[in-house]
Amino acid sequence: MHAGSRYVCHCEVPLYFAGPWQSLATVLSRVSTALKGFPVLNSSDTICAVSTPLGMGGIGIVRMSGPGVVGVASKIFQPENTIVGIGYQSHHIMYGRVVNTDSKEVVDEALLSFMRAPKTYTREDVVEINCHGGPAAVRKVLELCVKAGARLAEPGEFTKRAFLNGRIDLTQAEAVMDLIAARTELSLAAAVNQLGGGLGGKVGLVREALAELLALTELSIDFSDEDIDMVPAATLKAKGEAALADIKALLATYDEGRVLRDGLRVAIVGRPNVGKSSLLNALARTERAIVTDIPGTTRDTVEELINLSGLPVRVIDTAGLRHSVDVVEKEGIKRSEAALREADLALVVLDGSVSLTLEDTALIEKMNDTAYIPVINKSDLARATREEGLKAVFNGKEAVYISAKTGAGLDELIARIKDSALGGGVERAPEFAINLRHKGALERAGDALLRFDAGCDAALSPELLALELRDALDAVGEVVGATTPEDVLDRIFRDFCIGK
Ligand code: GDP
Repeated sequence: MHAGSRYVCHCEVPLYFAGPWQSLATVLSRVSTALKGFPVLNSSDTICAVSTPLGMGGIGIVRMSGPGVVGVASKIFQPENTIVGIGYQSHHIMYGRVVNTDSKEVVDEALLSFMRAPKTYTREDVVEINCHGGPAAVRKVLELCVKAGARLAEPGEFTKRAFLNGRIDLTQAEAVMDLIAARTELSLAAAVNQLGGGLGGKVGLVREALAELLALTELSIDFSDEDIDMVPAATLKAKGEAALADIKALLATYDEGRVLRDGLRVAIVGRPNVGKSSLLNALARTERAIVTDIPGTTRDTVEELINLSGLPVRVIDTAGLRHSVDVVEKEGIKRSEAALREADLALVVLDGSVSLTLEDTALIEKMNDTAYIPVINKSDLARATREEGLKAVFNGKEAVYISAKTGAGLDELIARIKDSALGGGVERAPEFAINLRHKGALERAGDALLRFDAGCDAALSPELLALELRDALDAVGEVVGATTPEDVLDRIFRDFCIGK
């Protein structure tokens, strides 16, 4: 349900409302007007797409949505046992054959499920035809649907319809994407939580509070000639500050959301040959990074997304951070430095079988701004570095001794990485965590509220204060899709796969 359409008055207006009572009705109607604005679907065509991955599979599903699904289905599907007079029953599955009406040729044996609006994914009538999963069969059934009057769906169009028909808000539509893209248990759980509407609900409350504040501020404009102080200025200011605090609390969830969606960025740094690529391989248990014993072969950064007990971690193997005259290697070093700047955490790798070099210490000195874990590799060989000496170099930081070759110490390293994630480990998926798009919109809302607050202090006219509140309300509305510009909506749904 959209926040706008499910608006129930949470306003506390009567508690402090000092003006004429007929104005209260004005306030309430303005609150509800300010909360409307979700775009609605005005198309009435029927869309179709293959909703399963193309290729060989046990089954392939062709999905249709729109008012014409039964018309299309009855042209191409012959049920085996029809009960006369009953026809298509909602939320039932029928067994039958898909038939080419022109040639009368049977194309496939299939199961057809019909779901009548509104209890469907899109809130429209939906038909799904489960056919045999070969690409030819599925494509043929899709072709027949188009011939019978359906149109090929654009990427994400089913989910877009669910949004435009008010079944889900934009944060829930985005959660569908997160859910499909989720590679680890925690990311999946976070997407499921967002799909449940937790974030949309929270944002809805902030919108209501802002709409109420706007209505009260506008009321002061109506009565500005009559010298009545409708709502005390201090109350308006306090309400603005409360909304700003709520927005800040939402913004604070961004880092966690980013880690769960994109992975914790962990850069592996160290001079050439200490075993960075070997460590990446050991962590990822793959052979993606090129391991050689020629210094400087990892010219570019190599990234691997790995699953550390549920936590997605993007491990970046950097080329040796060292001075070089080689042009290609110089470019690699530049990228490593950039990777290091963007990293949430660095693993500073040393070779424990040889003495510390100037290059090692120079690198450690570079680390002052980045959170890092000292990793002493090659523990399977005789140790050439003394623990106390290392401690001094690492400013007392405890090092982890590992062997990328034998796997010794890796569990401890993984535990240390997990502990350092977001300052204390992420064990459970958060109820909600915003994404980059939400962050941009909420930051704009926060800025507008800061201007509102400064405006209250400067006793600006209610007209000017209302302008700031409108900006804030619009920006917050973008998060759930109430005021999101058309091109942004298009961009969001374009990233979906076809058939979703
Ligand atoms: P990078 O240049 O830091 O990426 O280092 P590499 O991962 O390419 O490793 C350099 C050399 O050290 C290779 O010959 C590896 O086989 C070897 N190496 C890496 N880790 C270990 C380890 O834990 N023990 C031993 N004995 N050799 C290792």
